[in-house]
Amino acid sequence: MITIQTQNCLGKWSDMPDEHTEAHLVRLAEENGLDEVGAVVPRFRAVRPLTRDEVIATLLSGRTLRNAPDDWYSVSRIKPAPRPEVPAPTLVLCDCGHRVPTALAMRASRGTTCPECYDEWAN
Ligand SMILES: [Zn+2]
Repeated sequence: MITIQTQNCLGKWSDMPDEHTEAHLVRLAEENGLDEVGAVVPRFRAVRPLTRDEVIATLLSGRTLRNAPDDWYSVSRIKPAPRPEVPAPTLVLCDCGHRVPTALAMRASRGTTCPECYDEWAN
């Protein structure tokens, strides 16, 4: 099931309740259409309305669709997937006693060190 979000005049997105999604898809199909070259445009500039499947395909492509042809600011989109969390870097305990991400650990003549201790441990 897709979740549709609508944007209010202040630019804030809100989730549409699932029970309204189907009716809203039909509305979007009626309020938007394709022009002569197949571009998605508001209905009054279109040669034919969108189909429900075209509405979903357009939204899934990341585009927004207008809720009403005369309202530039009222649009719908698919709710974006939550961003994957960036995994925390793996820390390694260097011989200098500092804990740094593995990629930053350096090998000096007297052992492994963090970048700050490298000069001291390289002699
Ligand atoms: Zn160190």
